[in-house]
Amino acid sequence: MKKHGFEFSKSLGQNFLVNPSVCPKIAEQGNARQGFGIIEIGTGIGVLTAELAKRAEKVVAIEIDDRLIPILEDTLSDFENVKIINADVLKTDLSKIIDENFKGLDVAVCANLPYYITSPVIMKLLESRLRIKSVTVMVQKEAGKRLCAEMGTRDMGAVTVAVNYFSEPKILFDVSRGSFMPSPNVDSCVVRFDIKEDTPKGVDDEKFFFKVVRGAFSQRRKTLANSVSSALTIEKSIVLRSLEQSGLAVNVRPEQLSMEELINFSNILKNISDL
Ligand code: SAM
Repeated sequence: MKKHGFEFSKSLGQNFLVNPSVCPKIAEQGNARQGFGIIEIGTGIGVLTAELAKRAEKVVAIEIDDRLIPILEDTLSDFENVKIINADVLKTDLSKIIDENFKGLDVAVCANLPYYITSPVIMKLLESRLRIKSVTVMVQKEAGKRLCAEMGTRDMGAVTVAVNYFSEPKILFDVSRGSFMPSPNVDSCVVRFDIKEDTPKGVDDEKFFFKVVRGAFSQRRKTLANSVSSALTIEKSIVLRSLEQSGLAVNVRPEQLSMEELINFSNILKNISDL
């Protein structure tokens, strides 16, 4: 970095891994192996990229900061199976990247993400139903707890429902703040989402289901009826009727529901409210 006169950008969430034991573990547990192509998001100076490239058949790495591209050309010059794309992952067509680069290969995503885009990136990866086997990401410890919370427990949020809908989530291991440069204020953990072949059955309208889920968790500690009614601007009496028909208590809180109960409630609400 000194050689290239590089300075960290705080606004791009640039906390680079400097603990040498972490990247091999992410690569090994993140499906970087023969038969796999890996999409890496946010390369930094390429420490994780190199470990992925040693193990997988091919790596396509997406990095937003153009100042890092000449550094990566340097640090990754030994690898012929790495392609760097200078782009914002949130504006990138990942399905096209998979089609163009990973024919005949299984695909996995690995990333040490900037914390402020953790949720949008994970949601994009899951909701766009990409041809991927797993998503392995470094997240803040608190976020990891919420992402991998059991359905029906206090730690859960809308993102927990989405994650459980599309995948089987698992916390792999913790990473201390001292493993990064510069060191962030919080500890992290690495989580992996193993993508399900089939999403839960019985959802009448997936778009409406996720609208209900987001609405349900939009106001912490409120009842499901109050949150859904205000977030979706549906009369409260209609929401209460849907709860009753779903066999749920009128004062139930969203975090008390199982996936099946949420699906059933959203189907009945859609039916009654005629949305
Ligand atoms: N993988 C490296 C490591 O572990 O040392 C870097 C991790 S650092 C936490 C996050 C990286 O993501 C930075 O290099 C940053 O420039 C990049 N980044 C930030 N926002 C991005 C975006 N929207 N699309 C692609 N890369 C992004």
